Amino acid sequence: MTNESDKKKDDAVQTSSAPVEKSSIPGLSELLEDPSKRLFFKRVAVGGGTALLGGAASYGAGIHSLKGKVSEEYPQIDEKLFKPKDQRDVVLNFVSSKALNKKHPERNEQYNRLQKKEFNWVNGIKDMYSKPWDNSKPGYTQKDRALQKAGWEPLNLAGSRGSANLQPNTPFNTWDQSDVEKEQYQFESKKHASDAIKSAARVFGAVKCGIAKRDKRWDYDPLYDIENETELSWEKDFPFEPKTVIVLLASMDYDCIATAPAWTADGTAADGYSQMGVKATQMAKFLKGLGYHAVGAGNDLGSSVPYAIMAGLGEGARNGALISPGVGPRVRILKIYTDFDFVEYDSPHTWGITEFCLSCGKCAEACPSGAIPKMDSENGGYGFEPNYEFSDEPGYTWNNHIGIKKFYSDAKKCYNFWVENGGACSACIASCTFNEPDFWHHWFIMAINPVVPKFLHASMALSHPAFGYGHTNDPKRAIKFWKMGEGMRTNLGLKNNIGTSNKT
Ligand code: SF4
Ligand code: SF4
Repeated sequence: MTNESDKKKDDAVQTSSAPVEKSSIPGLSELLEDPSKRLFFKRVAVGGGTALLGGAASYGAGIHSLKGKVSEEYPQIDEKLFKPKDQRDVVLNFVSSKALNKKHPERNEQYNRLQKKEFNWVNGIKDMYSKPWDNSKPGYTQKDRALQKAGWEPLNLAGSRGSANLQPNTPFNTWDQSDVEKEQYQFESKKHASDAIKSAARVFGAVKCGIAKRDKRWDYDPLYDIENETELSWEKDFPFEPKTVIVLLASMDYDCIATAPAWTADGTAADGYSQMGVKATQMAKFLKGLGYHAVGAGNDLGSSVPYAIMAGLGEGARNGALISPGVGPRVRILKIYTDFDFVEYDSPHTWGITEFCLSCGKCAEACPSGAIPKMDSENGGYGFEPNYEFSDEPGYTWNNHIGIKKFYSDAKKCYNFWVENGGACSACIASCTFNEPDFWHHWFIMAINPVVPKFLHASMALSHPAFGYGHTNDPKRAIKFWKMGEGMRTNLGLKNNIGTSNKT
């Protein structure tokens, strides 16, 4: 349920009784010690070698595949099922509203009965941050809690913390248009305009930026003001008619996310949310300065993953997130709605990522709440409707936007785990096969992925942990993270928080 954008909520605690299971993914030493696994590893190595050799020939001629190819397949919509998504039915919105909890007691009752829980939905976010730290437990110490809370501080200071839970019209993402310049800047061409917008996004620290047409299929309708518990209309309440949605990606720190689901990881997740607020308000101001109406958005206004796909920034994945080449799922998505439409629009692209997810499933194995569909679920969990546990119970899947072909996850379970854990989890990001530091060979793999035979995808995914990637629930990662500050004075490799040398 990430990205439904979101995925979700934010912050994390794991007490000794927290239901975080040890990842079943073995390390290299374990693989080599166990004869059966050694045989498996050999096969993986042979498979991987074949993949590399097979791909090498195409790489020389196909470096441009890193740009992906235009996809005609997104979105696939079942018109019989599809309808606009009511903002009130997004989990993060629902759990933030006392009125909605009062209106739908059956939702909480059903979840608790079926999952055999006694979960208090409406107190969840408050409970999440009230877990005491334990300074003997790496990842759950006072230091980790401090990082987590500091990550949120820009949003808090701006009175915009609610935007993470879909509250529209906060100070960062204000609907006020009184500061729009009267004179409208005229660009020489649509390309000049798109380039200028993306240059501004770069200055404000986005790792990527794409531009999509406003598409009502992805907008929440009706909108909902959680603070005032009132329904809002695009036609009557929103200050202008949007034509364009500019999408930016804010990155999260590789080594920090690697500590998931510990509180440490929530430091970069919370910072990601703050970055969403800061960058969205800067970009909206830029558009207003050019004389056009603009409103920034984090998780509010519309579903971020489909907009990012429409803007050509990546593909939808099994873990519910956007996977973007180079940074994988380790990004937060922000949007700017504007009436400026003299631009070159981007379009959906593919790198074979969704296809890869059909043969992978590492995120589902790593998910401590069981929210992500596993490989052995019907269609591998890929379809127009959810097929996870209890999805055939009437009323259980109120949170899903059905009718779009994708992987459906049970965001309610995810949120439940966040509260028990004491903060956002991110294990599905940390464990993902596409979540890697920016080494040249990872770009190489991305380049050859579309031409690697599909039967080798599973081998590629399974061999990933043997190279040290994708482990979760490992206290050593938190200890390692807190030592990463060494070398920051000189930072000779110009490593930034996405673990890259400023490559975008
Ligand atoms: S791993 Fe599971 S519980 Fe953790 S954030 Fe992802 S979906 Fe939620
Ligand atoms: S771990 Fe595998 S299945 Fe899950 S999102 Fe990443 S690539 Fe897809």
